[in-house]
Amino acid sequence: MSVLVLAEHDGKQLKSFMAQLIGAASRWNQPIDVLVYGNQVDEMAREAASLSGVARIILASAEHLAHPLVEDVQDLVLEIAREYSVILGAHSVLGKSVLPGIAARLDIAPIMDVIDISGPATYIRPEYAGNIFSQIENLQSRQIISVRTTSFKPVHGDGHADIVTLPVPRSRAISHWISDDIHHSDRPELASARVVISGGRSLGDDFERLLAPIAGQLGAAIGATRACVDAGFAPNDLQVGQTGTVIAPDLYIAVGVSGAVQHIAGIKDSKLVVAINHDPNAPIFHYADYGLVADLFTALPELQTALKER
Ligand code: FAD
Repeated sequence: MSVLVLAEHDGKQLKSFMAQLIGAASRWNQPIDVLVYGNQVDEMAREAASLSGVARIILASAEHLAHPLVEDVQDLVLEIAREYSVILGAHSVLGKSVLPGIAARLDIAPIMDVIDISGPATYIRPEYAGNIFSQIENLQSRQIISVRTTSFKPVHGDGHADIVTLPVPRSRAISHWISDDIHHSDRPELASARVVISGGRSLGDDFERLLAPIAGQLGAAIGATRACVDAGFAPNDLQVGQTGTVIAPDLYIAVGVSGAVQHIAGIKDSKLVVAINHDPNAPIFHYADYGLVADLFTALPELQTALKER
């Protein structure tokens, strides 16, 4: 028996967290197969084949997988699921949609958002917005697991896995892809960026104008609080936190962010946290390594000038 990893890509290249996902898969010390699906995804299959520790790439290519729908991906995985003792995915939007359905159809409980694997069937996962960590021993015959990729070490890119082709079942066509509304950005991907600067709702309509130049100077991704997103000042995919993206950058700069528990749940693993807030009692200062009590509308232009002069 071996581990089946569900690959993720954007149609052009693999998601950067794939190296960490394979790092997590290697904890079982079993052969690792990676399922790469889509339409014309040979390049991504080759990329996945180069990840160290991968034994085999299972390539599933079909026109209807160009914009994969949850039920089609589940049908595809179920074609081969019986060959695997572990089915593993990232705790991403896709993983969260696909894995529970596969588990339900196999009559197995999935273990989601795993941050550590301490045995072949023993996992650590956060609960109550990261306020407690539970250790779970999973005695089921098959393990269906999603992992928080930022918690695992990436593997190198020196592998040479074989690529085999999987016949793709017909689409059940119970739903149809119409369009994607994607927020395009040249900045690093939020989930894997080494530096992230986030803004709260207090930035208002100046969110992009004030944060973008500094993000550019630092090579940072931009994040936002839920209140900021809900108010329409930042797009939904920038939300950081319990119900947004969970990140673990080397440097996290929180600007006008109060520090609500749900936000902190998404930044707890950041290596260094810097907070700018005009309220010295803002909860964010309990988590910050460096804090600046200042009005953000003054502090951000000053920071931008200081970075320019470096
Ligand atoms: P506020 O709470 O309004 O705080 C604004 C901060 O800006 C304050 O600290 C204030 O002192 C400071 N400020 C104001 N003006 C200035 C200025 N001129 N200069 C400097 N500082 C200034 N939130 C998330 O972020 N992510 C999540 O994933 C998330 N999930 C949630 C899930 C649930 C089930 C629930 C109930 C809530 C969730 N929330 C989440 C919302 C969370 O509880 C907070 O409401 C939210 O994080 C607050 O956002 P904020 O800090 O931008 O706004």
